[in-house]
Parts: sequence; structure tokens; C-alpha cells
Amino acid sequence: MAEGDDTRISDETLIGRTAAGDRSAFERLVRRHQASVHRFTRALAYDDADAEQALQEIFLAAWRAAGRFRYDASARTWLLAIARHAIYRRHRRWADEPAGFASLRELGEAAGWGSEDEAFVDRLVDGEVLAQALASLSPEDREILILRELEGLSHEEAAGVAGLDDAAARARLHRARLRLMKKLREDPDHGGDRRAREDRIVAGLHCGEVLADLTAFLDGGLPADRVRRIQEHVKDCEDCERFGSEFSAAVFALREILREPARDEEAEARLLARLRTEIG
Ligand SMILES: [Zn+2]
Repeated sequence: MAEGDDTRISDETLIGRTAAGDRSAFERLVRRHQASVHRFTRALAYDDADAEQALQEIFLAAWRAAGRFRYDASARTWLLAIARHAIYRRHRRWADEPAGFASLRELGEAAGWGSEDEAFVDRLVDGEVLAQALASLSPEDREILILRELEGLSHEEAAGVAGLDDAAARARLHRARLRLMKKLREDPDHGGDRRAREDRIVAGLHCGEVLADLTAFLDGGLPADRVRRIQEHVKDCEDCERFGSEFSAAVFALREILREPARDEEAEARLLARLRTEIG
């Protein structure tokens, strides 16, 4: 939140005033949310210049769309949805499902399920390695990871911004996390020790079912009984125990590096100057 911002004025009020043509209310709204929207565009754009240009389009679109704001959404999810739409328009090539569709089992194995790689968790502390792995993912995967881990939106909000139903958003997030782990395994110096993985049934669950539920397990989206059975399975299944802890370590490490960076005052000033020119 910008210094001097009057937080007693709600986002909804500012959007209402913006809809009535109040430019100073609009500037306040921009100042409040530009850092968040900028992080999102930066994660999805080709480069920083592309991200900054997109940012301008997004807030101009918000200026024009303020009268259509629906008060059942938060200002931030509304702006992120506009952002996503603008970036989509800029990069039409996006497909629904990232290329290289694999079964969950294949993806899990590529992500290291069933292999021993002692150094995996150590590697996660290298923010550079993690940032590179994130950058090499498809925009769709980066988008869902950013929405959940950086912006901290709920599943429902993230699904709404990404234009997906709840189940599709959960599935995409799970696969994006696994693909991130796969990228982290691709480091040629750290192949890990592959061996034949046994698919076991412990506590009435197949290893494959545990693999499929890891994201819901971690994010708290499972019934208590399912949680208990997964815990029992993991206790007695070495492969799932190892992979489960690597999976959560990767998710938390990503959350760590995506934490709010220093406010980019210069980018904000440039944005406001351009918007002033555009809306007169
Ligand atoms: Zn298992």
C-alpha cells in the first residue's frame, strides 16, 4: 500500500468513483494494486518491457471497465482477471493444456517419485536455480503457481482469474508443481538414483492415489478420513514419504522466492505518467 494512501476508503468506493470519472480515485486504486498486478504480468510476459506495457493496457482497461465491476469479487481478483485477459490477447498462442501431456504417473516419475536424490532439497535453497526452473515452465503453469503462491489467492479466486472451474484449477496447480519438480531434476549434475518403483497398497491407498492427492493434502482440500489414510500410507511407504516431503519442500521454497519484492517506485511513476496521458 502506498504511503499516504487513505486506507479508510475501500477499494469498492474507489472503483465506484473511478466509474464516475474520478481520476484521483483511479490513481489511488492504481497505487494500491499496481505492484501485485505487475508481479503477475512479469511472471507471464516475455520480458520486463513486455510486462510494463501490459501493465499500462491493464489499468486502462480497468479505467474503462470500472462501471461493470461486480461487487461480489475483490478489487484484486478483478484486476488480475483483467490482467490475464490482456496478456492472453497479447500472446494468443497459449493452449489450454501445456504441451507434452503426460499421465500423472509419468509426470510423477519424471518429478522424482520413486528415485533417490539426496541433494534435491538442498538445491531448493538456491533461489537462482528455482527461479530458472519457474521461468522455463509454460505460461499456464507459471500463472497458476504465481496466483496461488505469490498472490496467495484462494483456490476459488485463482480458478476464477485463470478462467477455470475448481477441479481444473486444482489439477493444473498439481501438474504445475510436478512439472516444476521435473525441471529441478533435469539438472545434468544431479540426476538422482533411479530405480524401479514399487506401487504398494498401504492403509487402503495405492501409491498412485497418494501422488494424485499431494496438492490437496498440502493445501488442505481433503476430508479428514482421507488425510488420515494418506498419513498412514506415507508412514509405511518409503517412496511416498520421500517424495511427499520433497514435494512440500519445493512448494514452500517457491513461496519463499516469490515473496513480495521491493516496491518498484520508478515503474509505478512511469505507469501513472502514461495513464495520465492516456486518460487526459
Ligand atoms: Zn506409496
